[in-house]
Order: sequence, then structure tokens, then C-alpha cells
Amino acid sequence: MKVGVLGSGTVARTLAMALIERDHRVMMGTRDPAKLGEWMNENPLALVGSFSDAAAYADVVLLAVKGLASADALRAAGRANLAGKVVIDATNPIADVPPTNGVLKFFTTLDDSLMERLQREFPDACFVKAFNSVGSSQFANPQFRSGKPTMFICGNNDEAKAITAQILEQFGWETADMGKVESARAIEPPVHVVVHSRIHQERVDARVQTAPRVAGPLVAHSPYTEEGSMAADKTFYLETFGCQMNAHDSEKVIGTLRQQGYRQVESEEDAGLILYNTCSIRDKAEQKVFNRLNDYKKLHKKGKRFGVLGCVAQQEGEKIFERAPYVSLVSGSASYRKLPEMLTRLEAGESRITGLDDRQTDETFETEFTARQNPYRGYITIIEGCDKFCSYCVVPYTRGKERSRSSSSVLNEARRIADLGYTEIQLLGQNVNSYRDPEGKRGFAELLAAVGEVEGIRRVRFTTSHPRDFTPDIVEAIDRVPTLCDHVHLPVQSGSADVLRRMAREYTPEWYLERIAWIKAARRPISISTDIIVGFPGESDDDFIRTMDLLAEVEYDCVFAFKYSARPNTPALVMIDTVPDDEKAKRLQVLLERQREIQRVNYSKQIGQILEVMVEGANPERGQIAGRSSQNKPVNFTYPQPIAPAPGSYLQVRITGAYPNSLVGEAV
Ligand code: SAM
Ligand code: SF4
Repeated sequence: MKVGVLGSGTVARTLAMALIERDHRVMMGTRDPAKLGEWMNENPLALVGSFSDAAAYADVVLLAVKGLASADALRAAGRANLAGKVVIDATNPIADVPPTNGVLKFFTTLDDSLMERLQREFPDACFVKAFNSVGSSQFANPQFRSGKPTMFICGNNDEAKAITAQILEQFGWETADMGKVESARAIEPPVHVVVHSRIHQERVDARVQTAPRVAGPLVAHSPYTEEGSMAADKTFYLETFGCQMNAHDSEKVIGTLRQQGYRQVESEEDAGLILYNTCSIRDKAEQKVFNRLNDYKKLHKKGKRFGVLGCVAQQEGEKIFERAPYVSLVSGSASYRKLPEMLTRLEAGESRITGLDDRQTDETFETEFTARQNPYRGYITIIEGCDKFCSYCVVPYTRGKERSRSSSSVLNEARRIADLGYTEIQLLGQNVNSYRDPEGKRGFAELLAAVGEVEGIRRVRFTTSHPRDFTPDIVEAIDRVPTLCDHVHLPVQSGSADVLRRMAREYTPEWYLERIAWIKAARRPISISTDIIVGFPGESDDDFIRTMDLLAEVEYDCVFAFKYSARPNTPALVMIDTVPDDEKAKRLQVLLERQREIQRVNYSKQIGQILEVMVEGANPERGQIAGRSSQNKPVNFTYPQPIAPAPGSYLQVRITGAYPNSLVGEAV
């Protein structure tokens, strides 16, 4: 079962830990990944994403947030399609957020007067109260973590208690009925869950079937008129799905919209224009987008307009208008440079505006108005689209033909970024090293070096590199230019020559390993990471063993591994998908476990070294600062001064410990 845990506090972490131990796959949704700090070192089986990523990913969503984050998390959960998902809400009631219909809440504070008030205000809501007598730190109790922890359920409503027990048991917890609320106060088990409200039979069914909606006080006043016309105050809401390229495209789209007089707001309800920037690299991404549109279609009656951008827009095209007639704008990424014109048509009342015909364009989307969202890293797209047509991949069909920006334009953007105070730049492209300067001035390695020489820039990263276009001058540039980071991401996809051939990767494992040998022969210690697909059609046990052998040979510092997922329009779609899903899952797990051991060894070799670390955030609970080394490894370290260093600053850190996914140290 995939579980999205929304939150990063003690409750969220403890719930996540218990779930991981029970072999569930967990994604933590947080506003502040640094807050998970060292916890992630010990529990790399949890992925970190935003609240909406976690809610969208999961079969089961656990809300474990409090304070100001609650409203954000609930909105994100409301945005994600929750149909068919169990939702348990452990929101702390001090946030004063009402229970959401169809959501089973379990709280972590024992405050009867607040509970009574909530119950009075929301008599039909089902909510459950979890508490412990010494505060939520009790959740971290080793007794709770180890063995089969028991959730002690108490409450005045037997039906509600039975449902709670049933749900908790699905998570692998044992439950014990402690009787009524009062009796629970007398004991001190690790965790109590107090059922404190009526739960109707339809709620029982609802817990697995309905898509709960965020309502009430969370919906702020809309600046749009009920009659349906756009008010003078143009507002938009934009949600992004997918990779770094998509996140950076969104930065450019946001900048373009702001330039056109739009103001960004945080929820669909507050926006006049609702945009989804979509990804379709894996899974049934298109379905997620339609579900999301369906969830919010009622807002169309209030005059709100909808737009679908990115890969799903390009893939589904005008079919989107048929399935969701209230959508007014459908645009693939190759047409973003026409966004200002499309927005003008939208404002004039046009209802079926498309940007879908530009996949053969030679133009790139360049704007000076990028709204940078990352506080310490400036992204620059240097190449768009892809011409490689790997047999499993949808990118060439959704992002169009490969086209590079001129190196002068890239360097101008690098200087602007440095002027804004950024010291780290990441160059982006589906295959960044397939870069061909239309001005003919610089090859990729030369551009890399030139960006590294821009005044004020201290770190340059680049992703993703394609093995076919990986040349020795890239390694030479890294050796020569100190600002280029000690890291190359070089996706291999498989260790089997046969699978690689059917993937149309056009290289063999030996050819790939030759590139790895160049990187390993560098004077600097260059960290290597990769992408792997398991369960490609026809992948035999033997093919998989070859991938495992390659893993052992290269000794990567990080691997992103995916189960093969069939994608529309791709040649692999017609290959017989011989690997059953459970076998794919098994191979994925075996591979990740082996890789974890490799990383454990790799990372521990760095104990005793002094590394330059760029600060990304702080984890006050642990008294640690979170940052990243040049090799892209997370480093959590102690810092002797009372005031934490600012994100984006650089410190020397002595490494004192290592986990498979991060290093631990002390500032020197
Ligand atoms: N251009 C890069 C390359 O070829 O090395 C990779 C870019 S792709 C957006 C990111 C990763 O997604 C790929 O390296 C691959 O591992 C994974 N991927 C792409 N299509 C996939 C599919 N159909 N199923 C599973 N994983 C896929
Ligand atoms: Fe997809 Fe292959 Fe292009 Fe990478 S190189 S984006 S995997 S088609």
C-alpha cells in the first residue's frame, strides 16, 4: 500500500516509520523537507514531496500536521483526488481546522473542551481523537516503534471504535479497546485513540469511496464575481506535477502570468484561472489530471477558467475539451512562448484555446520574467525536447523536437541569476549534454565552464546527461573549473545489452562503462548517480542480474529506479509486457536494497573528510543544519553559534558519521 503522510513532525515521522516497517511505501508531504533532516537518513524508504505530491501518490493519506501547515495540507489533500483512498486526519486541533467530510480524523491533543466545540459545530463529521498523556513525543517511544505496537482505542461510541480499529488494523497495528474516554485517562499506554464522535454508516462506506473536499473557513473570498466574468484583479492558481524541468517551466509560466498582470494565489477557490502543469512520464498521470479537473469543475459556474499545460496537455490534446468541456486552454510546453497571446484570447472570452502544434518548432521558451521559487538554486533550461526516442519514453512526443538556446542567452541568464544573489546554478535539459549552440560558439563542456566562470557563481550542476552524448571534455571541464560540482547523473536504464537494444538506447553496457571509467579517472572525486527501469517488457531474470552486476561494478552514490510503465504512443507499448507487476515490484525492492548497501559503504568512506557544504535549511528540533556537498550528498551538521547560518551560505564541515543517504558532521 502506498501511504502519503502529510506532515514532518514527530507524529508524522512516527506514523511513517511504523508504516515503513510494515512494508508500506511512504511519501512524506512537507513544506519544509529540511525539517525531516536526519530522520530521512535512517528511513530512506520514505520519499519527500510536497503536500499535494504525497496526497496524489497515495492509496491512503494520513494528515499529521498542525499549526499553520494544516490549512495548506488540507487544501493539498482536497486538491489531490482522494477517490478510493482512505484518509485519516491526525491534524492537531489547536490548528482549529474543522474535520473534513468523509475524513476520519484522529487528533493528538487531549483537549475535551475543544473537542466538544468541534463536535457541536460539525455534528455529522466523523472524528477520532488520538492522544497520549505526555505529549506527542510519546509517539517516538521505542515501545511504539518496535514489535507490534498497540493502538489503545477508547470512546463512547462503539460503532466508531469498531471502524477505527478496522482501519488501524489495515495498517498493521494491533488495537485494544480501553472503554470510555474517562477510563483511558487512568492508563498510560504508548498511544491512545479516543473515538469521540458519532460516525454514521454512510461515513463507513465513505471512508473508502468518497473524495473528501475542503470546505468552510478554508475557502477564502473569491475575487471573481459570481456572474462569471473575470474581475479586474486577475488571479491564478498553478499546480505542478513531475520533474525539475516541469517545476522550472512553472517558474517561467508564473513569471509570464505575473508580467501579464496576474497575481498568484494559493488555492483553486481563490483563483480566477486554474492551471495544472502536468507530467506523463509514468503511471496514469492523465487520469490524475482529469480527476483533479473533475473535483473542481463546479468552480466553473463561478466564472473560473481552467487550463491544462505540459505533457498531459500535449498527449491528450483536444480530447481534454471533450472530457472536461469547462477547460478553456490546453497547451504543451513547446507552445509556452505563445502564452501571452493565449492569455489575451482567454481574457477576451474565447473558450477553446490550444497550443499543441509546435512540436516541430526550433524556438525555445525564453523569458526574463522567471519567478524563481527555489531560495538557493537558480535553474536554467539550456535545451528543450528530445530526439532520442527511447522505446519506452513519452518525452519526444510531449516535449517536441530537441532545440538548444544560444550560449549567449544562457550566459546572460546566468549573470542575471548571479545578480539576484544566487551562487548555485543548475543547467537543465532532458539531455543537457546533447546541447548544440545555435550560434556555434560553444560546445556543452565549454558552456558549462563559461557558466562556472560567471562572477558570483560558486556551484554549477547539470542534469540529465545522456550516455550517448557524454564526452571526455565534460570530465576535463569538471577537473579544470572549480565551480563545477563533483557530480554526474548518467542514466543507464539497464545492465543488459539485450534490454538496452530493445529500449533503443543505442549503447551497450560496455560502452556505458567506458564513460564511467572516464569519470572515475578524473582528478576530482566525481560522484555518479543513475536512473534504472526494472521490468521492461521481456526483461528476464538473467537481464535483471546483469543490471545488479552493473550496479555493483559502478558503485553509484544514488540510484533513481522505476518500474517500467507503459506509455501512450511509445514503441514499447506493443511489446508484450511479460513481467508481472508483483515481479517488477520485487525486482525494484531487491535493487534498492542492494544499492542501499553500496551507498552505506560509499558514504562511510567520507568520514573524517572536511567538505564544503551549502546550507539549505535548519532542523532546530535536532539542533542540526541541513545542506549539500558538491557531490550532491545531503549533509546534516551541528553548528556552534546560536544563530543558524542562512540558506545559501557555505561552510566547511567535518564528516563524523554516514548513513546510506546522507552524511553527518560538525561545522569547523
Ligand atoms: N533523458 C534522460 C535519459 O535518457 O537518460 C532521462 C529523462 S526521463 C524524463 C527520466 C527517467 O524516467 C528516465 O531516465 C527513465 O529512467 C524514467 N522513465 C522514462 N520513461 C519511463 C517509463 N515508461 N517507465 C518507467 N520509467 C520511465
Ligand atoms: Fe526519454 Fe530517451 Fe529522450 Fe531520455 S533520451 S527523454 S529517456 S526519449
